[in-house]
Amino acid sequence: MGTTEQVRTFCRICEPSCGLVAQVDDGVLVKLSPDRDHPVTKGFACHKGLAAVDLHHDPDRLDHPMLRAADGTWTTTSWDDALTTTARRLQAVIDTHGIDAVAAYVGNPSAFNALGQLHVGTLLRTLGVRKHFSSGTQDCANKFVASEAVFGSSMVHPIPDLTNTDLCLIIGENPRASQASFYSVPNVLGEMRRAAARGARMVFVNPRRIETPEQGVGDTVLIRPDTDVWFLASLLHEIDLLGGFDSRVLAQHGARVAELREFIAQYPADRTADVTGIPADTVCELAQAWVRTPRASVHASTGINMGRQGTLAYWLVHMLSFVTGRLDVEGGNLKSDGFYPNARAGAGVPEQNYVDTEFGRLRRGSLPGTLLSNSILDSEHPVRALIVVAGNPLLSIAGEAALRKAFEQLDLLVVIDIYPSATAELAHVVLPSTDMYERDDLNIVNIGTSAQPFAQYTQAVVAPKADRMPEWWIAHRLLQAMGKPSLFDDLAEGQQPDPWSKWRHMLERGSGLQLDDLADGVARVLPTPTPGTFFDQQVHTADGRVDCCPPVFGPAIERSHRLFGEAIAAAARRADGELLLIHKRDAWMHNSWFSNLERMKRHGRTNNPLGISSVSAERLGLRDGDTVTVTSQHGEIEAVVELDDDLMEGVVSMVHGWGHRASPRLQVAAANPGANPNVLLPIGPDSFEPLSSQAHMTGIPVAVRPAPVVSSVS
Ligand code: SF4
Repeated sequence: MGTTEQVRTFCRICEPSCGLVAQVDDGVLVKLSPDRDHPVTKGFACHKGLAAVDLHHDPDRLDHPMLRAADGTWTTTSWDDALTTTARRLQAVIDTHGIDAVAAYVGNPSAFNALGQLHVGTLLRTLGVRKHFSSGTQDCANKFVASEAVFGSSMVHPIPDLTNTDLCLIIGENPRASQASFYSVPNVLGEMRRAAARGARMVFVNPRRIETPEQGVGDTVLIRPDTDVWFLASLLHEIDLLGGFDSRVLAQHGARVAELREFIAQYPADRTADVTGIPADTVCELAQAWVRTPRASVHASTGINMGRQGTLAYWLVHMLSFVTGRLDVEGGNLKSDGFYPNARAGAGVPEQNYVDTEFGRLRRGSLPGTLLSNSILDSEHPVRALIVVAGNPLLSIAGEAALRKAFEQLDLLVVIDIYPSATAELAHVVLPSTDMYERDDLNIVNIGTSAQPFAQYTQAVVAPKADRMPEWWIAHRLLQAMGKPSLFDDLAEGQQPDPWSKWRHMLERGSGLQLDDLADGVARVLPTPTPGTFFDQQVHTADGRVDCCPPVFGPAIERSHRLFGEAIAAAARRADGELLLIHKRDAWMHNSWFSNLERMKRHGRTNNPLGISSVSAERLGLRDGDTVTVTSQHGEIEAVVELDDDLMEGVVSMVHGWGHRASPRLQVAAANPGANPNVLLPIGPDSFEPLSSQAHMTGIPVAVRPAPVVSSVS
């Protein structure tokens, strides 16, 4: 008779890390259900998290190491052969061209993989790889820079105290479609509804009237994309005029307040209105509401990050909270800690984190993804070997054609992934990794941003299928194959390597918890963020004060003034019908990972249409369902029109994660390819925010016209 087990685990798709129960029949994962006994997530889980069971069983997954021959054919091979081949070819590149001919790209799923991110880091550090690229410069790099400059730690991201807030300003986020980012709350929409029901006012600032307010949660203020910094400056300035700055807090904890005032004073609400699209009266009303609401909070998400000035925008988000005395108070913004107090670990001096490169002065750490193709094609010291881990840069970074050309030119492209992605199709070696239910893990992604922190360990729910192996194992086996120190050295007969030692140490030091005590899979609830300790414990600037106008922002502030001048000119062009493209969040896609799941294509979701308002569509002679050509200065795609009158006039939208024409082994994705909107985005030295390397991905000017009709007569 067969066995059925219910195994406690948690989701690793997005930040709340919702508790799940996996049903395992005879060693096979058959179902994921919300864990109703989870002390924090309490039975909440969304359809994306539950659909991960399909990801686990997807027949198109990578199951074996594979090598691509010169004629393009793939052969399955053993791990020993794949790793020996990789080591030999990688060493040949290093011997001939030096270590700077090797680069790495690490994708978003690594943030949800405790052992993977740790040991891939060990691999790259041990090899001496200095050219690091990551998905971080596609969605959040600005946040670390702003927090480092303002609070002295890249890891300080105070979150709204939603339980107690009376006013919450939420910028660039659509919780109904994609929860929240840098803010972990299970069922954040439900929490917002609860807050609204007790009388709290929720204000969403977006270029599209998002689904969330339709649920009776709050109002949307429509903003022109890529103008958040000037909206926030005008809001702060109007608050200052109302006497809303907290002089006691500023005297006690602030530095360079005068310089902040000098910046925001240049953007009164009546000056920014034409550029942001937000009437001055709306800004002034929000300022008044903020001033009269002591328990007010603010949160900014991906939409704000993707603009050209995400760091400055996030700086002003911090300022809105701090200078008005809403930081570290009940109902305002609070810093969460989790099982590891991470503020000290993220401490840094911004000025020391930039280096001169052939592409200009760049921040250390993650290089701009939009320079990846340049680093291969246009560099004096080109990258010749690239290791890609859990990422699909060909589709997720701008400039698909340039990236394709670049990847085809590499001496070695190694892809470690769960899928034969479009990037993997160009690889020389692909190495199959485990999915989240085939590996042990710890919930690390929400450390420091969780409304109710908890620590949870999960064992692998099922054994890995076929030859799939966890990233930590692949990293150390590759090190071993290259003759470098690895976890596989000096093991006694029968002894297994221990990949957990660093996390075990951090867990114990940070919270007193033992990893072994978490082996039962039960989440341990940690202290809830409380007001009163922020300025003593979380601020790591040299003088211990919150820097209200960090000198490192100097060039960015000058740039902001220049961009504002250009934006005024652009406002005039809008009269001519210029359209601005934004990335839309969608409940049926998660990066490109969910592109091969039938369940996500239901109800006609077989492509990613171009959202456009009826007014713009009529002006262009377009109807719902028409095929159009979308052109930017950087590229051209075809898309299907979807009328969307929730969009601000002059804005069009597309969901990313699509464009799978070159992914033949992903059968569902290839049959429903959609279009890759990243083709329309800029690449190269002017394509990112200099402070943070964050790619410019929103507010891209595009032209839309009916696609030419292809004649069937030759
Ligand atoms: S909200 Fe995020 S973490 Fe929770 S189940 Fe959905 S995808 Fe998973």
